[in-house]
Amino acid sequence: GSVPLDDIPVWTPTAGASKPSRHLRNETLDQKISVYSGDITKLEIDAIVNAANKSLLGGGGVDGAIHRAAGPLLKNECASLHGCETGEAKITCGYGLPAKYVIHTVGPIAQGGVGERERRALRSCYWNSLQTATENAARSVAFPCISTGIYGYPPEQAVHEALAAVREFLDAHHDKLDRIIFCVFLPTDKELYLQNLPLYFPPA
Ligand code: ADP
Repeated sequence: GSVPLDDIPVWTPTAGASKPSRHLRNETLDQKISVYSGDITKLEIDAIVNAANKSLLGGGGVDGAIHRAAGPLLKNECASLHGCETGEAKITCGYGLPAKYVIHTVGPIAQGGVGERERRALRSCYWNSLQTATENAARSVAFPCISTGIYGYPPEQAVHEALAAVREFLDAHHDKLDRIIFCVFLPTDKELYLQNLPLYFPPA
């Protein structure tokens, strides 16, 4: 069955984190972040983000799972969008998914290594997905670990771009979003998020 948002615990920062944070504490962001291990297609949430490719016509990994779970109408709507550039985001309905919307974003391909271009593109994916969500009054958004599968972005580097972009967006627009879920699929990614979250969302 599907997983209601209310069943996903919120993450709270605990004092005594490993490294000093470069960010100021912002208590308006408390109770907004979660790390959830599991299948993003099961989430009852306003919007899930899809790690799509430029064609938006479906692929492997999380993209394939989302299209399978949403049903063929999703591909019809995607086909009307004329693709998506790297770092940008486009929104569709969720169709057969428990999520109301799917926000399709295209991560950078990092098989040639990660440079400033790839870092910027990955941050843009998170930022533009949240921008698209708020433009459509979606107040709860779940992200997969964009680019870290088939696209080869090292997960231990990607987590910093994900957390920095979400922190920056929430600092500017916390009133427009209630919940951000980092939907991790691999136990190693869960550890990376739990280790690094206090650097971006420091405790009191
Ligand atoms: P990309 O092409 O952007 O690298 P992938 O789909 O290959 O995208 O991988 C992105 C991440 O999504 C990986 O961490 C992968 O383990 C994860 N993933 C795969 N299926 C699911 C799913 N059903 N729900 C959430 N995450 C998933």
